[in-house]
Order: sequence, then structure tokens, then C-alpha cells
Amino acid sequence: MSFSFMKELPEPEEIKKMLPLPERYAALKEERDAQIRAVFEGTSERFLLIIGPCSADNEAAVVDYSCRLARVAEQVKEKLLLIPRVYTNKPRTTGAGYKGMLHQPDPEKKPDLLAGLLAIRKMHIDVIRESGLTPADEMLYPENHSFMEDVLSYVAVGARSVEDQLHRMVASGVDIPVGMKNPTSGDFSVMLNSIMAAQMPQSFIYRNWEIETSGNAYTHAVLRGAVNKHGQYIPNYHFEDLILVARAYEDRNLKNPAVIVDTNHSNSGKQYLEQIRIAKEVMHSRQHSEAVKRIVKGLMIESYIEPGCQKVGEHIYGRSITDPCLGWEETERLILEIAEHI
Ligand code: PEP
Ligand code: MN
Repeated sequence: MSFSFMKELPEPEEIKKMLPLPERYAALKEERDAQIRAVFEGTSERFLLIIGPCSADNEAAVVDYSCRLARVAEQVKEKLLLIPRVYTNKPRTTGAGYKGMLHQPDPEKKPDLLAGLLAIRKMHIDVIRESGLTPADEMLYPENHSFMEDVLSYVAVGARSVEDQLHRMVASGVDIPVGMKNPTSGDFSVMLNSIMAAQMPQSFIYRNWEIETSGNAYTHAVLRGAVNKHGQYIPNYHFEDLILVARAYEDRNLKNPAVIVDTNHSNSGKQYLEQIRIAKEVMHSRQHSEAVKRIVKGLMIESYIEPGCQKVGEHIYGRSITDPCLGWEETERLILEIAEHI
């Protein structure tokens, strides 16, 4: 066998003991989780923004960003519920490149996954402590969710993972909302099948255990645009797409129908400034149709402190080293505008 077994990792319970979430923040998370669930259940009219950098590459900048977000969150709290994106594991289209803080606590050094695990847990806790906001991450490696389950309020299953059975099964046992992205091909049925699988009880092997789950009623759709066989971007945030997904939801017996629109990725074609126009268009579509308003419960926006992106090694504080993001000024303005158009 050509695996090299490098280090045996501590169990999730041991990692949690090494970096515990203080009791008062556990209570805060419980409170926020209930507020988020209420949005999905339709008992709260607040609109969700899952917002933050493509990758949380630097703890200081990510905590700084989350604190800025918390100040705006306070101003718009009647209308919006903000969840910082603290994305610590990055799927890569070709397998090459920076794979997130889990792999590389220092993006310029070689992977060190135990150090990474501790660094990302510390960062999530520091975000909660400093900003009072509980974060979102991508569930790229379903095995790893148990190291972070007590610090996250939202997870997404990415476009490249959504057809995978283990991701769906693990999502069925997670007790926070899970956003299932449409696959890169754009096929809605893959995303809806994934939601169906995660909403029902499942049995499987996980972390060396035979597991049974109860199903996760808060699994929902995330539209991130698609790419066709010619490599062209096919957006799916337009009014017609939202109506289509609302109808497709009606045809299936799914709980808590909900759509989050991802304004970047294949929706913007990574023209990050287009996110502003896309967000406004979605808000307009919600105004135009009660069905769209009911089902579109939030946006996912890629935003950081400095606009655009840079290469690893360029060291501009608060600028993305993966997908290009809105800068803080545009972000703050956009959040306030979204709050006016609920
Ligand atoms: C992301 O959210 O940064 C991401 C990688 O998304 P997707 O899975 O939609 O490509
Ligand atoms: Mn991204």
C-alpha cells in the first residue's frame, strides 16, 4: 500500500478538550441556531446572509472581518441574520493549489493537518468570542465535521461533493442547516436528490462506527451557477431559475423548502463586483413574486476586507488568496441596501 500513515490524530472529544468552546458561547450558538432554524421554518421573516471570504486564510484578518460584520449585523438585525463564512477547507478544481487552513495553517508552508485542525478550531472559536457571530464552513471532508460540530451554525456541501453518498448521509445527522449546492453541471435534480437523501434517516459507517441518523429537515438548496461543456458560465439566479426551483420543490415532498443564492462562483463568473448587481436582482425577484419571496431565504456572498484576490505570497492584509471577493466598503454598502429591500 502506498499510503504513509503520518500521525494518528486525537479523537474529536480530545481536540475539543484541547480547545474548548466556553459555556457562554455554547449558549450563544444555541440561541443563534434557533434563530436560523426559524428562518428555514418560515416563522421568522429575517433574511440570511452567509457572507465572508472564499477562504479563511488568516486568523487576524478573518476575526477583524467578522467584527466588522457584527457591527453591521447589529444595525440590520430586524431584517437580516448574518453568518460569517469561515471556510477552512477548499475544494480545488484540479486538485492543485491552496486547500485551506486545515491543510496549511501557513499558506506558504507544507501541509500540516494536525496543526491545521487546531488552527481552524481556534479560529472558529475566536470568531465567536470576538464577534458574537457563529460561523459557516464547507463540509468538504464529512469525517472532519465531528471536530467542529459544536462551533458551526451552518455548513454547505460544495458543488463537487453534492452527488456523493457519504456527504449526504453525514448531512442527515447534522443538527444545523446544510446547504446543498447545485453541481457544477447545474443539474437541479442532483441537488434536490441530495436534499431528499439528507432529510431522511440513514445508516452508514462513520469514523469506525455503525451509525444511524434521524434526517436533517433543514437541508436546503444553494444555487451557485453552472458551467457548460464549452466552459461557459450558466447563471441560475434569474427570476426564471428561482421559479423553476420553487416548482421542482413543490413536486417533491421536502421539508422547509428554501433556496440560498450564491452570488459569486459560476453566477458571477467570478467577476466579483457583479455580486452587487446579482444580489439586487434577487431582491427584486423576491419583490415580484410571493413564491420566490417565500422560497429564497438568503444569499451567499464572497467578501473580505480588500477587494479582488492575490497570489499566495503577496501578503496584502485581508485580500483573498482563492476566489476574488468584494472589499469591505462595497460589502457594508451592499448589506445596508439588501436590508432596505427585504
Ligand atoms: C466556495 O463556496 O468557495 C466554493 C468552493 O463553492 P462551490 O462548491 O460552489 O464551487
Ligand atoms: Mn469561492
